[in-house]
Amino acid sequence: MDALPIVEETPLPPDQQGSDTAKFHSNHHGKMHACGHDAHMTMLLGATYLIKSLEESNGNFPFRELSGSSFNQLKKVELGKAYERGGSVVKFPTVKYAFGMHVWPTLLSGQVGFRSGAMLAAQDNFTLVLDGVGGHAAFPHLCRDPVVASAAFVMNVQTLVSRGMNPLESGVVSITHIDAGDGAHNVIPAKATIRGTIRALSDDALSQLREGLVHIATKTAEAHGLSLASSEFAKDSYPATMNDDGLFPLASKCAGLVSGSGKHTPVDPTMGAEDFGYLAQGVPAAFFFLGQGGDGNGDAVQSGCGKCCGRVPTNLSLHHPEFNLDEEVLKRGVALFLNSPSDP
Ligand SMILES: [Zn+2]
Repeated sequence: MDALPIVEETPLPPDQQGSDTAKFHSNHHGKMHACGHDAHMTMLLGATYLIKSLEESNGNFPFRELSGSSFNQLKKVELGKAYERGGSVVKFPTVKYAFGMHVWPTLLSGQVGFRSGAMLAAQDNFTLVLDGVGGHAAFPHLCRDPVVASAAFVMNVQTLVSRGMNPLESGVVSITHIDAGDGAHNVIPAKATIRGTIRALSDDALSQLREGLVHIATKTAEAHGLSLASSEFAKDSYPATMNDDGLFPLASKCAGLVSGSGKHTPVDPTMGAEDFGYLAQGVPAAFFFLGQGGDGNGDAVQSGCGKCCGRVPTNLSLHHPEFNLDEEVLKRGVALFLNSPSDP
């Protein structure tokens, strides 16, 4: 299971005060499940366990109380490997739909967010290397400075979305890392490495961003007397996750069955990305946001409330060092996985 390079700072729950770390903290310092993926696995294992129990009890397993759904169709479901990472979807004849979810701190616990069409972004990561001429910092005219060229590139690339993209589309270009030189004050380095991510809500728009990024990097480097030595894109880029229009009635029904309000919560797409997008390319698919941000009624708490009632907030952002799972939503997630395979 994956983990992020984050030092876990989630406060201790009241029953574990006095210990150095909470029971759920990572055993590996600097590694953290700050995105809820351990919870997703737990929910899926819970659903798998119940499906197997249903098989073995001929449909008499008493878990209807989990939600109001009919589970008697679950025996029709056959699970299998449905895709290969980075490759095309393998269409097993028994796979009719694909369902996925992610816990979502900005939705209240009990809400299940869903929409038709683009749900998550197409994403790619890039590494650019600018080649210049290094030398003494006192003689810049004898050098070709990749630091200045990198700075110019960072500014120039800001027009890629604002001037290059249809305003009715959505896109992101973020530069997240620049590396040049070895720390000396008086040396102009010979090269600079620039890393970042691009995102868009369609695969075509992402392709445009890829092309535009390389074009601006090439021309900016040339304008400064340098060259773009290489431009690499990640091998595991993700396509956009598209929720299938035809699956909307079933997905909406499933979400409503496990949500507190009895209906799904309409949401906007986000620029987050998932490899689930590959599944959605091969079979009709639906991806949900499972609210976990608390509700102020004691099921869970929100940021700022943690001190007064002694509970740990659950609405902090994904990837936040104090991210905390609202365990109350585990059973909703299990129920959502169980409901999803039912026929409409
Ligand atoms: Zn995640």
